[in-house]
Amino acid sequence: MNKKNSLRTVDNWINGKICSSTSDTHGPIFDSSTGQQIASVGMSSETDAADAVSAASAAFHAWSSTPALKRARVMFNLKSLIERDRQEIASIITREHGKVLHDADGSIQRGLEVVEFACGIPHLIKGDFSEQVGTGVDTYSMRQPMGVCVGITPFNFPAMVPLWMFPIAIACGNTFVLKPSEKDPSCALKWAELLKEAGLPDGVFNVLQGDHVAVNALLNDERVEAVSFVGSTPVAEHVYKAAAENGKRVQALGGAKNHMVVLPDADMDQAANALIGAAYGSAGERCMAISAVVAVGDAAEPLLEKFLPKINSLKIGPGTDNNNDMGPLITSEHCEKVKSYIDLGETEGAKVVVDGRDHEITKSPGYFLGPTLLDHATQDMRVYQEEIFGPVLTMSRVKTFNDAINFVNAHQYGNGTTIFTRNGGAAREFASNIQVGMVGINVPIPVPMAFHSFGGWKRSLFGGGGVYGMEGVRFYTRLKTVTSRWPGDTQSGAEFSMPTI
Ligand code: NAD
Repeated sequence: MNKKNSLRTVDNWINGKICSSTSDTHGPIFDSSTGQQIASVGMSSETDAADAVSAASAAFHAWSSTPALKRARVMFNLKSLIERDRQEIASIITREHGKVLHDADGSIQRGLEVVEFACGIPHLIKGDFSEQVGTGVDTYSMRQPMGVCVGITPFNFPAMVPLWMFPIAIACGNTFVLKPSEKDPSCALKWAELLKEAGLPDGVFNVLQGDHVAVNALLNDERVEAVSFVGSTPVAEHVYKAAAENGKRVQALGGAKNHMVVLPDADMDQAANALIGAAYGSAGERCMAISAVVAVGDAAEPLLEKFLPKINSLKIGPGTDNNNDMGPLITSEHCEKVKSYIDLGETEGAKVVVDGRDHEITKSPGYFLGPTLLDHATQDMRVYQEEIFGPVLTMSRVKTFNDAINFVNAHQYGNGTTIFTRNGGAAREFASNIQVGMVGINVPIPVPMAFHSFGGWKRSLFGGGGVYGMEGVRFYTRLKTVTSRWPGDTQSGAEFSMPTI
């Protein structure tokens, strides 16, 4: 944490305008492909957090009373504006995160699809009506917004993960405070500018920059009704507990170890192609990256035969060059941490088949690491148990299909998994028995589309429901059910027993 210097400062956005943090503490933002600091971010104080919540709170009444069709029109406008500025947004992501431009663009597309989903909000929050549930009695239900909602997001998807949250929250009639990662905070301000241009009233969407100080102030503010968090598991657990203790609705998505199970009958070209992108795309900094492959029976050797040439031909370099497959890691500390996991894997007895520490690219400035494959990883090894969040893939070998299911189910995380096989019966059994929230069959990264919902099991998700899709609509609304009878011929006298038909 350094003091402000002459570099550009990324500030807060409160009540429709940029405003500086009241603290004089700033954090560095790096170009991870050069290691140079390119900007700094103002770290918000508790006062800034209270100001952001005050703005959101003041805007709530008018916005929640705005007809859903008008709220949807803001989303239609936002969709067009994101399409207009797509290239600029991709460069912001690449500049601060480091991922390759084509990958950044893909993440914008997946977020944009949530905006498209939110455009349908009048239909999505339509209630139910039942006529004559009793004589002369009708019942209807409606979904009403919660109030001030908060989104706390990680560094790895500075555009997409906020887009999982705020379009649906706002379209449902809530107001929102986004606390993005302090490592790549500029995208959040772009959302604020575009939402204003799209016609969103001031105060409905606010950005609070900073770290745990800002997060904890939001969690302790009694005016905040709902909290969506995406990040690492220890922080997810903290946010879940603190928010729940303060009586808030909370969903906290955490870390992952996603397995690809390969059966001997799989199409090995298809499996190897899927694995290379899912393991090393975005330098492994994806919560749905495949970080553990489980080869069943004699699947390992044919898979490796197809896979190893692909690792060796991966193109690694700055994200600004669209010919690259993989960019740098986010910070120097994170790069060192990932390297230390490779050291650990060696000590624990895994076989380092491909060693990213020796890759040519590590001689460049910036936080680069080559792709790594640790074979013969066993369940007791920390490199298998823990999330590494870098371009490091473990390979484990099991004898039978049932062993593979038990292997995956024993893991602490349950975000995503995928199976490669030609056997429909095995695929069906896998989908049914695997204890993981998002399952793929012969697909690399089973991230559900915007009209389904995203969410893991076990220590990959704490609290209520998944994000986006109908789970998102339910999370950001409260259900109210009204039962009515009008004075008329059907009235009876006072009743003291439980009403029945
Ligand atoms: P992180 O947990 O360090 O940070 C996430 C957010 O929490 C940031 O906004 C950060 O400022 C804030 N934060 C950090 N420490 C805090 C603390 N002690 N108290 C309160 N707030 C704190 O995560 P990250 O390093 O930015 O992101 C990578 C992690 O996110 C990985 O574990 C990855 O698996 C996970 N992730 C999960 C999903 C998912 O959908 N499950 C999606 C993307 C990323």
